Amino acid sequence: MELVNYTLKWVWDSLDEVLKDNPDVCSCEQCRYDIACMAINRLKPNYVVSKHGQVYAKIKMLSQQAPTDILTEVVKAVEQVRKNPHHLE
Ligand SMILES: [Zn+2]
Repeated sequence: MELVNYTLKWVWDSLDEVLKDNPDVCSCEQCRYDIACMAINRLKPNYVVSKHGQVYAKIKMLSQQAPTDILTEVVKAVEQVRKNPHHLE
């Protein structure tokens, strides 16, 4: 058994979408992790119990699509990394 933070899954999903819409923002591993880290720290976790990689029961109550507040935080984080990327050039 393990605990999976579903908010993190939503953050990664939203991050892919936002980066697709903003091709000028760097999408290297460092920047992607910086964006995800910033967003996840500002959001409420949503843990679910997972067994053998599968999430049961509670997940059905959760939307497969990221809630708006998650998208908002990801967009904010993307803006911050766009202005101040941490990767070495
Ligand atoms: Zn980068």
